[in-house]
Amino acid sequence: MHPIKLNLLVALAFALTLFANSSEWIWGSIYHFTHPAWQVVSILAAYALITLAFVASLTIFLGSKKSLQIVSFATLVLYIYTVYVVARQLNAAQVPWPMSAKYFSIVVVLLGISIFLYSAKIEYIVRVNTAISLSAIFYLISPLLVVAFTSQVVASPFKKINNTNTIYLLLDELSDTAIDPIIRALESENIKPIRSSLITAGSDTIFSIPAMITGKKFDQARPCSATAVCSGGNILDFSKISQVENKLSIVGVHHPYCAIKGLRYCYQSMLPTYESIIIDSVCFFTKLVYRGQLDFCSSRLMPPNLVNNVRNEMFSAYWAAPFWSEGGVMFAHFLLPHPPGLHIEGGLNEEYAANINDAALFVTANIVALDKKFDKNYTLVITTDHPLRRNVWCKFKRYSNDGCMSDPLYSSKNVPMIVASRASYYYHPPDNGINKFQLDVR
Ligand SMILES: [Zn+2]
Repeated sequence: MHPIKLNLLVALAFALTLFANSSEWIWGSIYHFTHPAWQVVSILAAYALITLAFVASLTIFLGSKKSLQIVSFATLVLYIYTVYVVARQLNAAQVPWPMSAKYFSIVVVLLGISIFLYSAKIEYIVRVNTAISLSAIFYLISPLLVVAFTSQVVASPFKKINNTNTIYLLLDELSDTAIDPIIRALESENIKPIRSSLITAGSDTIFSIPAMITGKKFDQARPCSATAVCSGGNILDFSKISQVENKLSIVGVHHPYCAIKGLRYCYQSMLPTYESIIIDSVCFFTKLVYRGQLDFCSSRLMPPNLVNNVRNEMFSAYWAAPFWSEGGVMFAHFLLPHPPGLHIEGGLNEEYAANINDAALFVTANIVALDKKFDKNYTLVITTDHPLRRNVWCKFKRYSNDGCMSDPLYSSKNVPMIVASRASYYYHPPDNGINKFQLDVR
């Protein structure tokens, strides 16, 4: 085989194995819209080019056979590791191995690969690289095939309540024990809200919202296409949500809400993670060699200025929605009272308490606007996806020093469902139910 072709083949095999190992990051970046798709593609292309440059320089210094052996060694190790990770995710490798057996098998695998690469003819090594490339491509696109052939149509849960103009306001990370400022805000507008304390549909945004929409469990959920999330046999493809109200407006983040067809208006915010995709991808790819969280990465995740830019753009999109002139139904998913602090920087408890107050001010602004526009003909549903996640935030460097675990006030296991209306109908609050968007109205 021509040396240039050979270099291309082994570099491609390594890069594709790396991408297969990172399929969670690839699909996650596109699904959550952490970065525009063109940036994700550019980063992958950059990694492929760096690999190619590395292979080419090895060939120049060591000759093509040695270069082929060294790069194929790295590819095979990464490939076997990737297969092991996938098997573990599929629960096929859950049997705990004793440490000695683990080390023994690692030595056997490394020895096996070395002997094969040392003794095999070049054409066999080329064949192995080709097979690895093809299986990595198949693995990368297989979720798309699963979604295309098995996802089912799901009815939109965002319906008018009792024929009133209805807002479903999802305030991300609102603990059930933290809602007093919001209740007081409603009461000071002379509204007696009906409130329920419900079991959260999932411990994280990726698990709970698909469960709230479908009524099925999504505890293993992960993005499996640009518009779908998969959890075991359960799939929610946002592009297959049907029976959409013809005046449904959505302003959202984290899930690809704008993939829903037939919306009157939609604003999809970028999910703030790292300031640039370069830091994001470096922090992800370093996990291949170091599973822990590097300080460099931890201190750069969700910086307040980035989150606040996203919030302000979402508020603007919310108040610009045609709902405010035409009525209908609106669903909005805001990163509030979700940390970090909207207006202050302090410890986790301080920032969270301040964010709850900001959320209460936002609720008041909603009631004032609804009264002005629709008189009594409206319903405001306030709910959330999960309570405050101390286990997540206390790992952040900026919160870990302030006695992160000390305040029990916000450590609820339940989530609230608050229904606020001046219209005369009876809403039956679900007691002890699981949080869902489907409400029982009589
Ligand atoms: Zn959330």
